[in-house]
Amino acid sequence: MIIAPKGTKDVLPSQSKNWQFVEKTAREVAELFNAKEIRTPTFEHTEVFLRGIGETTDIVNKEMYTFMDKGGRSITLKPEGTAGVARAFVENGLYAGALPSKLYYITQCFRYERPQAGRLREFHQFGVEFLGASGADVDAEVIILAKTLLDRLGVKNVSLFINSIGCKNCRKKYSEALKKYMEYNYSGLCDLCKERLNKNPLRVLDCKNPDCKKITADVPVILDYLCDECVEHMSKLEKLLQLAGVEYTVNPKIVRGLDYYTKTVFEFVSDNIGAQGTVCGGGRYDGLITEFGANDVPGVGFAVGIERLLMLLENSGVNLPVNEGVKLYVASMGEKEYQKAFEIATKLREQNVSVEIDHMQRGIKSQFKYADKIGAEFVAVIGSTELEQGVVKLKKMADGTESMIAFDEIGKFIKGE
Ligand code: ATP
Ligand code: MG
Repeated sequence: MIIAPKGTKDVLPSQSKNWQFVEKTAREVAELFNAKEIRTPTFEHTEVFLRGIGETTDIVNKEMYTFMDKGGRSITLKPEGTAGVARAFVENGLYAGALPSKLYYITQCFRYERPQAGRLREFHQFGVEFLGASGADVDAEVIILAKTLLDRLGVKNVSLFINSIGCKNCRKKYSEALKKYMEYNYSGLCDLCKERLNKNPLRVLDCKNPDCKKITADVPVILDYLCDECVEHMSKLEKLLQLAGVEYTVNPKIVRGLDYYTKTVFEFVSDNIGAQGTVCGGGRYDGLITEFGANDVPGVGFAVGIERLLMLLENSGVNLPVNEGVKLYVASMGEKEYQKAFEIATKLREQNVSVEIDHMQRGIKSQFKYADKIGAEFVAVIGSTELEQGVVKLKKMADGTESMIAFDEIGKFIKGE
């Protein structure tokens, strides 16, 4: 037996309704905020992610699926959605259109990680990117969009944490303070963090290594280093969240995994789904679009992990949709009768009725058993007498009531018209 690659998962027919439910709700919520869908390629030139995510991140350092294609180009399967959207935004000149440009996506992502509950090598994200506006009101709107999605899905026990990681100016001062503080503990850091301390000290706060976590427990906090503009931005965001009745906690340890964030960063975290508790992460990235060649286009966005969201839905006791049974099963005996069943099925599908017929040359008893198994609401039987009279014997499975219905009347009858 050939099995699926480690860290990948099949979505089986019994689960796909849940996915459709989440995807549909996500689209509806995004469109409530006037966001429009953007679809970008599954793979990009590796350069897109080096620029758009940053070379000191876990993603770029160790998680990317990168390969040379047959033309000798370095290609990477997208590990997240934002960088590709930024590339597409600039390449297609969307910055010259109506701003802010509110975009959303649903995409699979690929990261070479150690698979565990809530951590896969192929997973899915719903994300939004609001590009062109620099105010804290847009940060608030993006956070409220994520919250609206969680609420509409019926997810419980999720907490919102917010922080500011400042702009280039205040981050520089903070990085120096952090570096100084860490000098005393340098030898206790993991190798990657030693490197991070030189290239991008903030990354050390995002390390999952327990020793590094211990060392960073009492580090100076960035909020004490923010410049006036960044303080103002943060307090405006807080005011708007309060106005909207959104509960949050300021957590100065949140720095997020990507290099391009500025000012606002946030996470929605649940303690309901085990160690991988972050369902949604996002923030402002005013320097990102510039990396792709369009100047002065600020942005803010987030991404939700759909697998983690589904785990959360299951653990929240939300009534998830189930696959509905087929509306009608047409049972038949004999060749001519089967042809009639085939013809009826075709006509009724044209009338938007879901229909199933026998494809296994089963006897009538087995056909009924099968109809029961697939949850048919009605079963129509065509024997030689029915065929002669141009009717079917129609049984409503819930209460066993039977009626004789003319071929042309079946659709109307079962639709209750
Ligand atoms: P983590 O800290 O858990 O590694 P991250 O900071 O790498 O998360 P982001 O890059 O911000 O995650 O991605 C946004 C969301 O995508 C996460 O909050 C999570 O729900 C989901 N996600 C990230 N990596 C994975 C993965 N390997 N498998 C499943 N979901 C993931
Ligand atoms: Mg990660």
